[in-house]
Amino acid sequence: MRSIYEQMPAFQEDACEIALFKAKWPDGFRCPRCEGTAYYHITSRRNRLYECRVCHHQTSLTAGTIMEGTRTPLVKWFSALYLMQKGISAKLLAEIIQVTYKTAWLINHKLRHAIQVWDESKPLKGELRLYGDFYARPAMSGVFDPPDQRDQPAVVGASIDPESGEVAEVKIKRVPHAQFRRRLYDVESYGTFLWRHVTDVQSEIQSIEIVRQSDSEGVTELGLIWRGVIGWLARTFGGIGPKHLQAYLDEFCYRINAGTSAFATLLNLCGITRTVTLRGLVNKRRAVRSVRWTGKTSFRQQKVS
Ligand SMILES: [Zn+2]
Repeated sequence: MRSIYEQMPAFQEDACEIALFKAKWPDGFRCPRCEGTAYYHITSRRNRLYECRVCHHQTSLTAGTIMEGTRTPLVKWFSALYLMQKGISAKLLAEIIQVTYKTAWLINHKLRHAIQVWDESKPLKGELRLYGDFYARPAMSGVFDPPDQRDQPAVVGASIDPESGEVAEVKIKRVPHAQFRRRLYDVESYGTFLWRHVTDVQSEIQSIEIVRQSDSEGVTELGLIWRGVIGWLARTFGGIGPKHLQAYLDEFCYRINAGTSAFATLLNLCGITRTVTLRGLVNKRRAVRSVRWTGKTSFRQQKVS
């Protein structure tokens, strides 16, 4: 089987501009100042500008998008977007699209930021299943971390499609140590996850079930997802430290949730998500809002044989 980058289309700058235009303005151009819909093209040396016919405000195509302020050609961004369907390291991305490691790292993290904003905008609802575990970074790369930072408790939470009984939407979120040290199969341990990532509309929650990695029928679906993310982090990055782990967990879930429309979904997100700076990424300033959960929903614990 050919690898994903051998199948990558040869993106053209003009076509990328058109595609980003559609992602940014799905209903056609809209002036950010006066909401006018008519514009002139102004071609500058580096960036295509749009001038409003009414108020003459000039705006660039990338303004207000995840690519804002970039000096990297759109074809390289589109290649990175395409490769996000597989999930590759900044080192490999840098080689493929011929940019520096730092640029590749920033592009990947900006794309993850768009994914995170999207993820936080759609809390889980319906029939829920939760699975808790500890992410242990491989000893080789984590040996210098303080011991209490090495095992990251995380929850795999999924909405189940009532028709098929399969996972319809999944999130994997880090949760606080203190809470999770208690009991993996006690719903009390899932309070933070429920509060932040599940709808606060009571009538939208049908049931909450705590599952294990495997049961009498073998590995559970959530157990498989957990094993999948562990394997991907190990193979691709040699493991991830606590600082950026959440961004990688969200990236993994994006691929499951967006499925075959992963590229189109990410392109649309890039068009409508404000960019984040390097400083914002490094400081991990919390730029994304999450939901509050005040639940009194009755819990259904899975019987564990
Ligand atoms: Zn205007």
